[in-house]
Amino acid sequence: MPALELTQLRLDGRKALVRCDFNVPLREGRIADPARVEASLDTIRYILAQGGAAVLCSHLGRPKERTPELSLKPVAEYLSTALGVKVALAPDCIGEVTLRMVAGLKPGGALLLENLRFHPEEEANDRDFAHELARGKDVYVNDAFGSAHRAHASTVGVTRYLTERAAGFLMMRELKALSVLLENPARPYVAILGGAKVSDKIEVIRNLLTRVDAILIGGAMAYTFLRARGVDVGRSRVEEDKLELARDLMSEAIRRKLRLVLPVDHVVAASPEEGTAETAETIPADRMGLDIGPRTIQEFIAHLAGAKTVVWNGPLGYFELPAFAHGTLRVGEALANQPGVFSVIGGGDTAAALSGHPWSARFSHISTGGGATLEYLEGRELPGVKALETQS
Ligand code: AMP
Repeated sequence: MPALELTQLRLDGRKALVRCDFNVPLREGRIADPARVEASLDTIRYILAQGGAAVLCSHLGRPKERTPELSLKPVAEYLSTALGVKVALAPDCIGEVTLRMVAGLKPGGALLLENLRFHPEEEANDRDFAHELARGKDVYVNDAFGSAHRAHASTVGVTRYLTERAAGFLMMRELKALSVLLENPARPYVAILGGAKVSDKIEVIRNLLTRVDAILIGGAMAYTFLRARGVDVGRSRVEEDKLELARDLMSEAIRRKLRLVLPVDHVVAASPEEGTAETAETIPADRMGLDIGPRTIQEFIAHLAGAKTVVWNGPLGYFELPAFAHGTLRVGEALANQPGVFSVIGGGDTAAALSGHPWSARFSHISTGGGATLEYLEGRELPGVKALETQS
């Protein structure tokens, strides 16, 4: 059965354990980018407005034990301001003190539990820990799409004990947008793939090859494909052990009669940090390709024109440095401004590169998941989503 929607859950007078993805970047103890917290606010507001109480939980970073720098305190403060309701931080996610705080919550109240990963039992999906997490709560809401590819106690184990459960609004938005990409995309359907490594995205490429009409490849990944075609790529990043695979994928694209488009020019430099960035059609032996060049930008934009569905995963260049961000930004802006296209930006680095611009809000969907989005696009079942579905 598909996941229940939050609106189908009875919340009045009940306590909801809400798994959120508050794994925000921190800088000097402050939240550097609150996008992930913002993304769950409508779910939390809805629960409170229905007369429920929200017991919020999340992981932050990768601690193996209690690590004060990875406390969720800054998130509790951010939530208090954003919601206009005091959100206290419990000293732990389980235990008697925390349980008393949960018991004391009134309808319309919210409490944030301390970092789930202060307990290794969370990632181990430990049964007793999951049971403890469930104590004192009546229902379970999972809004943490970014953690849905992990079978942890707070994403899977806990559903054994909290059988009334639903997907939060963010989770639902993610699943609805991503399911279009695999189930019923309007055509023409184009995939843009970039990023550091072919090896990270083999299964995504394989799965998309069976569905799309064209694949545009940029980023460092493109150089493995170009080298596999016999093109000189200088010192560009090439995965030598993936050349054969790249050839196979290109043959598969030909067999399926879909266009697999590689860069025809590049922005090159001696390394990201050294030398001046120049445009080149042929990469000199002592240079590396760090972005797609102006002709490639035009070609990619031309391939996108008329597309009805576009999925994009992976930046087209070394976007962290402005000299090599141009390709990602120009293609991004053109796609965002293109009318009549359902555009989905995969999470992680791609979302970081394409968020926060005046045109970013015009994409149909920017996913909050990194690994979860990739696994979804590989066609794999996400354990956190499955755990919401198996309700009789
Ligand atoms: P991924 O996490 O696989 O999407 O890869 C993102 C990373 O790939 C970013 O840190 C980019 O800077 C990097 N990247 C993209 N294009 C290039 C390139 N041409 N050379 C080196 N790194 C690149």
